[in-house]
Amino acid sequence: MRRLRKTKILATLGPASTEPEIVEKLHLAGVDVFRLNFSHGEHADHKDRYDTIRALELKQGRPIGILADLQGPKIRVGTFQDTSIILENGASFQLDLDETPGDINRVSLPHPKVMESLEVGTNLLLDDGKLNLKVTSTGDHTVTCEVITGGKLSDRKGVNIPNAIIKVSALTEKDRRDLDFALEIGVDWIALSFVQRPEDVAEIKKIVAGRAGVMAKIEKPAAVEHLEGIIELSDAIMVARGDLGVEIPLQKVPSIQKQIIAMAREAGKPVVVATQMLESMITSPVPTRAEVTDVANAIYDGADAVMLSAESAAGDFPIEAVTTMSDIAEEIEIDPIYRKMMDAHHGLLEATTADAISAAASQVASTISATAVVTYTTSGSTALRASRERGETPVLALTPSLNTARRLAIAWGLHCVFTKDAENFSDMVEKACNTCFKEGFSRPGERIVIMAGVPFGTPGSTNILRIAWVGEKKLNSA
Ligand code: PGA
Ligand code: MN
Repeated sequence: MRRLRKTKILATLGPASTEPEIVEKLHLAGVDVFRLNFSHGEHADHKDRYDTIRALELKQGRPIGILADLQGPKIRVGTFQDTSIILENGASFQLDLDETPGDINRVSLPHPKVMESLEVGTNLLLDDGKLNLKVTSTGDHTVTCEVITGGKLSDRKGVNIPNAIIKVSALTEKDRRDLDFALEIGVDWIALSFVQRPEDVAEIKKIVAGRAGVMAKIEKPAAVEHLEGIIELSDAIMVARGDLGVEIPLQKVPSIQKQIIAMAREAGKPVVVATQMLESMITSPVPTRAEVTDVANAIYDGADAVMLSAESAAGDFPIEAVTTMSDIAEEIEIDPIYRKMMDAHHGLLEATTADAISAAASQVASTISATAVVTYTTSGSTALRASRERGETPVLALTPSLNTARRLAIAWGLHCVFTKDAENFSDMVEKACNTCFKEGFSRPGERIVIMAGVPFGTPGSTNILRIAWVGEKKLNSA
């Protein structure tokens, strides 16, 4: 099965998409990577979904990526005696470490490290930014706030503290348990929420130790400030617009999205745009014009992937949402303006053979109207450099590592094929031609461009660029 687009689709699984038949329909409609959201559900639920995806992968014969998204240090208030209160503007309200149910005067904020980080003047945004409290004084394990924007506050609502660097580890105890579990079942990607500093990424990378790719979710102002260092240490990036739009003024989200995408692309790290992309499709079979334009704009920015959250996890129209995204991507990618934009934002090449050959392959393929670029890749790093080219010719990444094939499913333009390594030069050509034919990219008589490294199977040895005719097998072995 080949996709007719290069932008990838990530979809979150949840109560609306647990049945194997639905998961299969989502995949056929266009999902390249499935997201298991560890903010919700039990380990057993995630394991069931994991098994469903792997069974589907076997049935379809296509590698599928699986991303485990860790909740991270999400801060919440405690509970109330009557489950909720109404806070009036200008009122005084206390937060403390006392776990007893709160009332109109106080509630617990059961995070000691967060308490320590609060200073006079700090703003706290509650319930996705609907309420705003400002710290007026701090005491021993308590802070007093003035209610700037009041409203209803109920049990366990989320708290965002945009401008404070919270002295907490990026991994909570729950995250550590979830991480161990996710690695044990064998996910391909781990996403980390509320990353603040490059050290947060370093901490999780040490635990993951190469068993999965690590994706940093950019949803804190501190992360935006440390973008360069975070991108450098991460394997991929998510523009997590949900919390980002609470933590910074909403009107700043579009430019930050563009900045993150540009920087991630320059670094050659896959970048995903997430949240509210087709929000209205949670309850409607058709999206709004603004949503279609938002998905299109993420694609025009050159994002590797666009993501669905509640639309596919808990909505009434999960399949329609995926089909909508896929249709938008196909349409945008044939727009000559899109091609011009991809060519115009070509990153600087690193002085490596992988970059030299990737850039040359993309250009040669374009010049001779080749129907595919084939890259042999073991760790996946060469394929990511080829993806970074954002070239017009589809790239087939042939890899003897199933883990690599699955992990690369997130990257722009890569069609991954799990296959044995080439044994020699003629095998390299033959395998590439056969695969392009079998996977529906090339017909006999069409040309392809092959990148590989000799000696075969040696990572980092990319040093060959070969043009081949599909169907030239006999010629080649003569
Ligand atoms: P979440 O992350 O859905 O886990 O909150 C995405 C976002 O904040 O946009
Ligand atoms: Mn978030």
